[in-house]
Amino acid sequence: MLPGRSDAFLTAAPDHGGELYSPALPEPEPATVARGGPRGIVPRVAMLAPDLLRTQAFVGGRWVDAESGETFAVLNPATGDEIARVPRLGASETRTAVASAAEALPAWRTRPAKERARVLARLASLMADRSDDLATLLVLEQGKPLAEARTEISYALSFCEWFAEEAKRVDGTIIPSPSADRRILVTREPIGVTAGITPWNFPSAMVTRKSAPALAVGCTMVLKPAEQTPLSALAVAALAEEAGLPPGVLSIVTGAAEDAPLIGAELTSDPLVRKLSFTGSTAVGKLLMRQCADQVKKVSLELGGNAPFIVFDDADLDIAVGAALVCKFRNSGQTCVSANRLLVQSGIYDAFVARFAAEVSALRVADGFADDVQVGPLIDEPAVGKVEEHVADALERGAEMVTGGTRIEGQFYRPSVLTGVGPEMRMSREETFGPVAAIARFDTEEEAIAIANATPYGLAAYYMTGDLARAWRVGAALEYGIVGVNTGLISTEVAPFGGVKESGIGREGSSYGVDDWVELKYWAVGGLAPAG
Ligand code: ADP
Repeated sequence: MLPGRSDAFLTAAPDHGGELYSPALPEPEPATVARGGPRGIVPRVAMLAPDLLRTQAFVGGRWVDAESGETFAVLNPATGDEIARVPRLGASETRTAVASAAEALPAWRTRPAKERARVLARLASLMADRSDDLATLLVLEQGKPLAEARTEISYALSFCEWFAEEAKRVDGTIIPSPSADRRILVTREPIGVTAGITPWNFPSAMVTRKSAPALAVGCTMVLKPAEQTPLSALAVAALAEEAGLPPGVLSIVTGAAEDAPLIGAELTSDPLVRKLSFTGSTAVGKLLMRQCADQVKKVSLELGGNAPFIVFDDADLDIAVGAALVCKFRNSGQTCVSANRLLVQSGIYDAFVARFAAEVSALRVADGFADDVQVGPLIDEPAVGKVEEHVADALERGAEMVTGGTRIEGQFYRPSVLTGVGPEMRMSREETFGPVAAIARFDTEEEAIAIANATPYGLAAYYMTGDLARAWRVGAALEYGIVGVNTGLISTEVAPFGGVKESGIGREGSSYGVDDWVELKYWAVGGLAPAG
């Protein structure tokens, strides 16, 4: 068992016991992927408790259809089957949701923090009680392995727990006054009505990572989940309602891909909305930031990354391979902190590539419900198309395929390793967002740092080294919001998640995560008689 692997990989990873495996002798590649349980989606959907499979949007505390009556399909990425249809909301319903968030705000923001905390703590506990259902729903609409889905649900509810605690600590400061008849105070106040727009790769966790801190400090929120994965967001809302969240404090507006610009335009142009928090692509993030500029709305943006994963000669090979596997292949490589560029120093290069490629070729690709699955499908056809384009571009420009390199069937792509990947290739410049590891060789520490920083992005970077002095040196030189040292897993609710440069603005999680949802108010209190 390699250290540094996620729970999902721990269950199924073959133990190579430290022996080097030649990538020339990969495991036989499956012609098709394994399916978990009964073929087809209907049995899994039928197993879900109906109170969590919500097919209406949640606006102002009511479960509603679109005014047009139109719906769109949510598909299972493993089979292409339709799981459910949900409403296509637009500008009008979004306006209603914002109005109800504004109406709910005065009572919510003035409610004692301890009471707001109680609601969030109850939500966390309901999510824990229902984690099997929530995880099943997540696998159905997103495709990730069930073990990873369970991990995501506990990550998602951890934000409710954490910010339930933080709610009680949104305190202020009294600053020593420069004059005897004055007092100077600073309070931290909720920003007001806020908007959240979330992506499909962590359909449950992104909802709570935004809404829990907002609600904890006394803001209200209208949230638009990704069109591929609205069901997990609606399930969280159903549990929030059960937990006693007052109507209008959190609304979920669902929409198809074509509706997103309309909903986004409404959220960014309504003067009642004071802040937008977005996680998704850099292009859409920049667009939304421009839209927010007109009213100088606050923004938090968590955008693309182009994470370097550096393996130095002095790294522990077990740790490096284990960390690279989990960092690259978790969620089929569809995370913004996924290792996008593996940079391996010459002295360890051959050993690392051999060992890593053997591990990659042994990864079990299957439906998220299959036993021991490690890599599920990609989210949709365009996602597979992008991976194929990146691989074709790299091969054309001289990279070498060590293992994988093809689609298996449907939206399943074989876990792959490419070597000789150069900076001019698309894989090095853009997020591939798929199960393909791109490896480049380097010679010196300075060279690795220069390559790592040569990107407009700056979310997460990883490096593997056994040298303490190097660990401090390299960490200081990397222009990233997050650095993973001898680990490929960095996400936790107790730490601040976020990027620098074009990867974003703001931090989510930890006590710093409160700052994104409050404004400072400075009180100058004059006319006080000097003491004595
Ligand atoms: P990805 O390419 O990973 O799907 P996107 O940035 O397109 O990332 O999507 C992230 C979220 O942004 C989703 O909820 C999506 O519906 C939403 N979105 C996409 N385009 C817009 C837009 N023009 N305005 C508002 N939201 C948008």
